[in-house]
Formats: sequence, structure tokens, C-alpha cells
Amino acid sequence: MSKQDLMETIMAEVKACRKCELWRSRRNPVPGEGSLDAVVMFIGEAPGYWEDLKGRPFVGAAGKFLDELLAKIGLARRDVYITNVLKSRPPENRDPQPSEIEACTPYLDRQIRIIHPKIIVTLGRHSMSYILSKIGFEIRGITGVHGRVYDGKLLGLKVTIVPTFHPAAALYNLKYKDAIERDFQVIKRELEKLGARST
Ligand code: URA
Repeated sequence: MSKQDLMETIMAEVKACRKCELWRSRRNPVPGEGSLDAVVMFIGEAPGYWEDLKGRPFVGAAGKFLDELLAKIGLARRDVYITNVLKSRPPENRDPQPSEIEACTPYLDRQIRIIHPKIIVTLGRHSMSYILSKIGFEIRGITGVHGRVYDGKLLGLKVTIVPTFHPAAALYNLKYKDAIERDFQVIKRELEKLGARST
């Protein structure tokens, strides 16, 4: 099967998914979007109001900021792949529950295998702890690790992981905006090291 076919299978499964209760309250599932050959994959937390409405990741205010961050390092959305730990919106944007993460992340793992990105950027602490724990780091706080570079084997694939804050954090605190902008410079440097274009 081609990458496209494999990803379409996941999209169809996510649409029909009832492995947790979030299907009851969601309007649309948000599987993810972007280049299936992306060198960089961004993983957020879960769809919010606008994402749930449109069925697309990061289309609200946090997404606008993410677009700006990408542009500053010479990337556009079509160059990267963007998805979330959870594919359905938790009611009132509450935190993902462990049972929901467990139910939903097999989809994410399959997406990572299909895309095989060289760099994974985790946006926020839920995405960070899920991905870093898979390469053997049990990290609770994001403050001490954002902007660091973790090289490891994830799902049998050699990847570089760069954790950063969730872009929504920057919308209420300038301190986070500056930190995320600096972390994106780390992503840029890692891309340059790979001698990679965005795709
Ligand atoms: N926040 C997320 O974590 N993901 C989205 O897609 C939108 C907002």
C-alpha cells in the first residue's frame, strides 16, 4: 500500500472510532494533515473548538501562531505534517485522560511510521511525555526540557525530538512566546544539520 492509502485507512478508522467516549461529543475527528514525506512532524495535544468544527488541526488562534513560527524558519504547512495525541476534542478542552491517550495513540504511532519524520516536535506537555517516554525518558515538567534535542529510536525509527511549549501558551504569556520562538530556531538548526529541505 502507498503512504497515501495507509494514511487514508487511518483517516477512515478515526472517523468510525469509538474506542473512547470522545466520539459522542465531538463534531468532527481531526486525524492530521500535511506532507506524507515531511522531514518534520508536529504533534499537539488535542483538537480545540475550531479544529473540531473544521476537522483540521491547528486552525484556531494557536494555529495562526504556529503558522507564523513555521514561516519564521522557512517552512509552510504543506512542508510538514501536523497532528495531535488525541484525534477528537475533549469537552471544554479539558486535559486528555490517560485512557483516551492509550486508546488513541496507536493511530499516532501508525502515522509516525508512515511519515518516518527525521524530526518530531512535541507541542505541550502531553505530547512531550508520550513521545519522550517511548524513547525511555520519563519527564514530567516541560520547563526544563523545552528546546533540548533528544536523539533516539522511536518505533524502531531513528529520530530527533525537540519538545517545545504548546503554541496556545504564548497567547496568554509573552514569556512562552519568546521561548517557543527560540525553540523553533533549534528546529531550524537541526534541519540545517540534516542538510534537509523541509520535505
Ligand atoms: N491545540 C492542539 O493541541 N491541537 C490543535 O489541533 C489545536 C489546538
